[in-house]
Amino acid sequence: MPEQSVKIVETLSKAGSIAVVGGSNDWRRPSFYVMKYLQKQGYRIIPINPRLAGQKILGEKVYAKICDVPFSIDIVDVFRPRDECVEIAEAAVDKGASCLWMQIGIENEKAARIAESAGLTVIMNRCPKIEHSRLSGLLGNGGFVSGLLSARRQTVPLPPEPRRNGGYVESNKPETLAVHAGTRPDGATGARITPLYQTAAFIFDNADHAASLYDLQEPGNVYGRLSNPTTAALEQKIASLDGALGACCVASGHAAQLIALYPLMAPGRRVVASKQLYGGSITQFTQSFKNFGWEAELVDINNHEEIKKAISEPNVAALFAESLANPDGTISDIEALAKLTREQKIPLIIDNTMATSVMCKPGNFGADIVLYSTTKFMSGHGNALGGCVVDMGSFDWKNSRHSSLLIEPNEAYHGIRFAETFGKLSYITYCHASVLRDLGPTMAPMNAFLTLTGLETLPLRMRQHNENAEKVAQFLRNHNGVTKVSWAGFTDSTHHELGKKYLTGGFGSVFTFVVKAGYEAGQQLVENCNLLSHLANIGDTRSLIIHPASTTHRQLTESQKKQAGIEPGKIRLSIGIEHADDIIADLAGALDLVLRVDSKQHIKI
Ligand code: PLP
Repeated sequence: MPEQSVKIVETLSKAGSIAVVGGSNDWRRPSFYVMKYLQKQGYRIIPINPRLAGQKILGEKVYAKICDVPFSIDIVDVFRPRDECVEIAEAAVDKGASCLWMQIGIENEKAARIAESAGLTVIMNRCPKIEHSRLSGLLGNGGFVSGLLSARRQTVPLPPEPRRNGGYVESNKPETLAVHAGTRPDGATGARITPLYQTAAFIFDNADHAASLYDLQEPGNVYGRLSNPTTAALEQKIASLDGALGACCVASGHAAQLIALYPLMAPGRRVVASKQLYGGSITQFTQSFKNFGWEAELVDINNHEEIKKAISEPNVAALFAESLANPDGTISDIEALAKLTREQKIPLIIDNTMATSVMCKPGNFGADIVLYSTTKFMSGHGNALGGCVVDMGSFDWKNSRHSSLLIEPNEAYHGIRFAETFGKLSYITYCHASVLRDLGPTMAPMNAFLTLTGLETLPLRMRQHNENAEKVAQFLRNHNGVTKVSWAGFTDSTHHELGKKYLTGGFGSVFTFVVKAGYEAGQQLVENCNLLSHLANIGDTRSLIIHPASTTHRQLTESQKKQAGIEPGKIRLSIGIEHADDIIADLAGALDLVLRVDSKQHIKI
């Protein structure tokens, strides 16, 4: 476990009493949430609040000042502005407390020095409720990264078992995270594989437990539309692979786009998006979102002047692009885009479906929210639809250009403000507790289970996808029946330099090529493949092939097709993990036949 976590575990496991300075009796205030949670975990909470002195909160007497408390205090938890912290630190020292703890958003170096020099442990800018639930594994129930990798059963509550390094290992290696993150052995049964929790609802211990869950005062499961433990394990795994804070899994990639934007958008607001996006996303943004009163403006994602101008419009709420675009392999300069969105105080949302976190970590370059269609490489076996919204925790919701649903009082939760109550955890909490609850595109637990299994081999599979793609792209480039191969790995590709910067381990395995003989030859080629599957998906273990002009883009007029770059003979490939020789042999055989097609005659086999 990281050093800071060890310090927090020790502090929380040794403590018995926690004075909450600024503790409120209003159950909608964050301090009340913290007191209620900590009390349930067995701590004696002592509210300190001069306005309420003598009254009771959660059955405990309220004191005006720390020095009025007639018994010992272990932790002094501060819910007051930073300029009051020095006085509180001095009082904590006088009282003989062992820890001065300043809440999220509160840091005071002078107070820290006073406490530390008197031998107190100091923790700043953190919440004991969040830390306790993170380190006991409970926070993972909400789809947040616990950072706890272990092949040992989950133990709740703190302290962890007295084992080497607390029973944990540390790693940020994708191969290890893909197998272990979020998926410790089941605490109740010892099952090594995360069980499929195929249940619609979850039992309440008693009326107060039910009330606490409904009020979001403690992490836990209520109803499957909002959360599920199998799905939460997947959320942790995906978020860990991205080095993110947390994630929210949903029914499909398109649902992820809807869920990600919903907290930020409102009628009349606009999302600026890349015109190189996957065609289905363009339709969703420009046609269906219109019915919510949301506007969408499409820009060339490599024209930064155009983007700068577009996002400076006051109603713009976000910029949306793909790291590596489906199907033509356009690569976004994420770092440059993040600079532009920071200036405008709007989030940068990156669809990372095609690259996956194994090839690209958009958060490392400044993306605030990362999205996936897990239907593709993540699950990887073409057997489970799904999507995921990943929060890097980097966006400052309180200082964004527009107020969002995270800032405004939430009437459905008795007027709490998510940003205030959940701090950094507010966006993902909102996605589960409000957006999934009210819009409902939840990932099925079975799909989460299948995707969890698929993800374990993601790094291995991506390696093989990339190796094969390179061989197939080279083969096609040298074939005299082919005019163009749009694969970013070629040094003369317009995307090559950005590819070198943003992608690791290859240049992607979904790309297009153009059959010289045109539309009909394109169709015939697809029909004559015996190993490559003719279908409308990507990122499967199996190699896939499709002729966009007669399928995915067939509804477009000739001029629209031209604008979208859909030439008559264009073919989209998603190269699988079979042996490259067999993929090439299948394409070569089909191409040989196609070369015999002329404009009037069908192939005769
Ligand atoms: N984003 C990209 C890049 C895609 O390729 C797709 C689907 O092809 C989607 C999003 C939508 O995902 P889903 O089909 O899971 O809704």
